[in-house]
Amino acid sequence: MKIQLPKKALVTGAAGFLGSHLCRRLLADGYEVTAVDNLFTGTKSNISDLMDSPRFSFVQHDIILPFWGQFDEIYNLACPASPVHYQHNPVETMKTSVLGMLNIMDLALKTKAKVLHASTSEVYGDPLVHPQVESYWGNVNTIGIRSCYDEGKRCAETLAADYRREYDVDVRMVRIFNTYGPNMHPQDGRVISNFVMQALHDEDITLFGDGLQTRSFQYCDDLIEAMRRYMSLPRETVDAFCAKHGLGAPVINTGNPGEYTIKELAEETLRQIPESKSKLVYRPLPSDDPKRRKPDIALARELLGWEPKVPLKEGLSKTIEYFRAQQIS
Ligand code: NAD
Ligand code: UDP
Repeated sequence: MKIQLPKKALVTGAAGFLGSHLCRRLLADGYEVTAVDNLFTGTKSNISDLMDSPRFSFVQHDIILPFWGQFDEIYNLACPASPVHYQHNPVETMKTSVLGMLNIMDLALKTKAKVLHASTSEVYGDPLVHPQVESYWGNVNTIGIRSCYDEGKRCAETLAADYRREYDVDVRMVRIFNTYGPNMHPQDGRVISNFVMQALHDEDITLFGDGLQTRSFQYCDDLIEAMRRYMSLPRETVDAFCAKHGLGAPVINTGNPGEYTIKELAEETLRQIPESKSKLVYRPLPSDDPKRRKPDIALARELLGWEPKVPLKEGLSKTIEYFRAQQIS
């Protein structure tokens, strides 16, 4: 009888918010998981419950430097995602996106691993097309404070497309729209964690600008489901899909099309934390802050038979529950 060995997955950015959920899901799906992270924004506490699993191992490593190992699948999530953090050390952010991606692509080329790269809605910049479709090339400032992230991620997409065309690497990309949920760092700086933490501590809720800019918020479980479905597709299906839609590389939006102003998000947060004494206050809008954002998910629907299931109210409630529990423990 032939023994079936578990498939091997490498997850970079594994101790971060999304990486930790992905590791958990891959273990549940029977994979052997190697988790890599330099712990810049991630924390070991996000994955501490996985450490006892014989199919899980953690390596503290910076993906700017090469990494070696034989894997069936590589999920490249390493990169700070919160504007506060990626702007803290912009050169490092760019290096992570570009040099990190080169290292991942070289590893995939040598080992024939399949890759899923975490790209972002930020490749559309401050979009002039709404909702954002994959064929839109974006409106991005090359020299602004968000550019290290936006242009780094755009360059990573280019590397993926060229490694696929030139060397036939099987790489797929998701353009992730604002995603939230448990395991976000309380001091992460992104809007949902900020508002929930502020409301729980009776601090002012800081609305940047007039609060009328919009975002579309995706609950983490919906994204992880899309990622897993995408990676389980055969190469031929993905190639045929690209040809059908004229895509230069397999890239799909993943997000929840529900669109809310930031003020509406603040009001919903306060509705769900009724005991809070917090007040809404207005602070200057950071430069290049996109005014509207909403994914067109027609391609993801068609390719993956997927759509998000968790509405903002429900996901926000689960996230508040998580942050409340963190305060007590
Ligand atoms: P996060 O900051 O919680 O996680 C990122 C992880 O990457 C952290 O654990 C961090 O320590 C690690 N990391 C950063 N630089 C590294 C390096 N050079 N080498 C090794 N590890 C490194 O952010 P997240 O929300 O979990 O985002 C994960 C990925 O998804 C990122 O690539 C991000 O750009 C992408 N993304 C996230 C969102 C979102 O809304 N959450 C939206 C778009 C794209
Ligand atoms: N924002 C805000 N108050 C905060 C944090 C963020 O009003 O305390 C706004 C921010 O200006 C942006 C939106 O919320 O318009 C989403 O910000 P986030 O940093 O979560 O992600 P982005 O989509 O900008 O990368």
